[in-house]
Amino acid sequence: MTEASDKPPIDHAFTGDRRGGAADPTYAGALSFMRRRYGKDVAGSDLVIWGVPFDLSVTNRPGTRFGPQAIRRASAIFDGDPQYPSGIDPFARLAAVDYGDCALPRGDLGACARAIETEAAGILASGAHLVTLGGDHFITLPLLRAHVARHGKLALIQFDAHQDTWDDGPGGIGHGSFVLEAVREGLIDVERSVQVGIRTVAPRDCGIAVIDAYEAQELGVAGTARRIRERVGEGAAYLTFDIDALDPAFAPGTGTPVSGGFTADQALRILWAIRDLDIRGMDVVEVSPPYDHADITAVAASSIAQHHIQALALKKAG
Ligand code: MN
Ligand code: MN
Repeated sequence: MTEASDKPPIDHAFTGDRRGGAADPTYAGALSFMRRRYGKDVAGSDLVIWGVPFDLSVTNRPGTRFGPQAIRRASAIFDGDPQYPSGIDPFARLAAVDYGDCALPRGDLGACARAIETEAAGILASGAHLVTLGGDHFITLPLLRAHVARHGKLALIQFDAHQDTWDDGPGGIGHGSFVLEAVREGLIDVERSVQVGIRTVAPRDCGIAVIDAYEAQELGVAGTARRIRERVGEGAAYLTFDIDALDPAFAPGTGTPVSGGFTADQALRILWAIRDLDIRGMDVVEVSPPYDHADITAVAASSIAQHHIQALALKKAG
């Protein structure tokens, strides 16, 4: 053996390739999402993960600009062993790259929205599946624009305490109005869309089905998943997970926490039960590390993205 190969492996984020697990110590090594290789060249990748550290449209507590860094750090423990619950190493089947973060123009919200959409569109043009780490919930609007431009109108599957159908005016930039704006733009197939875990009162539902928080508890995991699957059907969908869908006990680090949400376990099980839906893109948003404790929120967010990636890997194999 050469001297180099005797060294324990580390820093997979820039020494590894796009496939297979990493072997960094969980407490050390260069951080990327699930230790994926960093790169701006996405050609040939099945999966691209990136961050959008934008938090300029919040109505209450800020801080989600630090979300992508915290979620990457919390994901380090998912570095390559077979993952629960699939039992497989997703990167044995998916070539994946961590694209780093979106470059956001300072002081120009409209330009930020365009930058997110343009960069997302560039990634999607490669044919890769895109998983985005937010950032506040406004970012889902330019992400939807990019995904719909590629795939056509999509059903929206939204986990959230809030419906985000408040009105900031046409073209408005707000984390509580992106759904209304997306409906105005004709991006969402409202007849197949569903919002899950809602426990606030918004002025309109835009024709989107709602499974509110109490209803979801009554239905249970299997019943809630069944309702989502019935609503969305076999057509293409986009999955957005606002971490405030979880109860503040399981996601204290977020901008607009509301009591009475899902446990992390319930949310992960619902996601796993809808894994065969035709989901064309996914984000997890509203993680605000300055309000987090013991990385509770970042751990939950990284697990949510990791579950989605396992589902992608199973489809790739199937
Ligand atoms: Mn919310
Ligand atoms: Mn939201």
